[in-house]
Amino acid sequence: MAASSRLIARLAVVSGGGSGIGRAVCQRFASEGASVVVADVSEESANRTLGSLSHDHRGQEHMAVAVDVSSRDSVEKLLTRIQCQYYQPPSICVSAAGITQDEFLLKMEENDFDRVIQVNLKGTFLLTQAVSKALVASGISKGSIITVGSIVGKVGNIGQTNYCASKAGVEGLTRTAAKELSGFGIRCNCVLPGFITTPMTDKVPEKVISKITSLVPMGRMGEPAEVADVCTFLASDESRYITGVSIEVTGKFPSMSETRAMQMSDHSRCKGSTNTECTA
Ligand code: NAP
Repeated sequence: MAASSRLIARLAVVSGGGSGIGRAVCQRFASEGASVVVADVSEESANRTLGSLSHDHRGQEHMAVAVDVSSRDSVEKLLTRIQCQYYQPPSICVSAAGITQDEFLLKMEENDFDRVIQVNLKGTFLLTQAVSKALVASGISKGSIITVGSIVGKVGNIGQTNYCASKAGVEGLTRTAAKELSGFGIRCNCVLPGFITTPMTDKVPEKVISKITSLVPMGRMGEPAEVADVCTFLASDESRYITGVSIEVTGKFPSMSETRAMQMSDHSRCKGSTNTECTA
């Protein structure tokens, strides 16, 4: 897609900007004219993203900052650094930092539950709150907060009670923040990716990936750039009358009842068949 200039003169911060979806968002925002703060727990990855950003628009200045979004202190330092560098808070904020620690409910350790909630949900809360406070204090009456949930926060996913709970929480947080912040000119929306090709999904066994893609009508995983395009729309004035919504970027991931219906119809088609595909 040809680059346009929808984010000229805007300042954006993207957590998890060192990899996958966050990196694609940084690259897309930069190509649209924004100055981008790449924030990631890994300074090395953040710097790699920084090195890939375009500077084709006048006045663009990007920076990379190490941050642990689960720590209030770290997030506050991030905001201080940004404001020292740019003399303003970011008016666009994308919370893309996230982790998984998968295990079946019956075996999940409390620590693995807590860590995923801390990074995915509390991290989104801390960054959203810090950016909103700074925007309100500065009197800038225009902002776009974009959170990254997941389709599995809606439909559930085996082995991910912690992750699904965190992502359902992110959606609720976003809807509520939208109500509280609209009076300050700050919009809050959530993107719900389906299964996207990133280092996070590289860990998923091939067999599981094939099963998942067979359920997606579009028949493939998504690309980080496809999520970044939606984030760019939500960051830009093109979405100026949209707040408090969640946008699925999934190739139409089936709901739980649709999945069940598909399984039932496969089952009835396969009844009496000797086809090994049906008995797998
Ligand atoms: P990714 O490639 O693993 O990127 C996540 C980034 O967040 C990594 O650079 C990671 O650093 C960083 N991070 C982890 N903990 C952090 C912390 N405490 N503070 C700051 N940064 C931290 O994963 P992704 O697939 O792009 O995921 C991006 C977001 O999309 C996540 O919120 C994820 O839950 C969500 N999502 C992804 C998919 C998918 O299919 N890929 C689907 C739905 C939702 P390290 O690599 O050093 O840990």
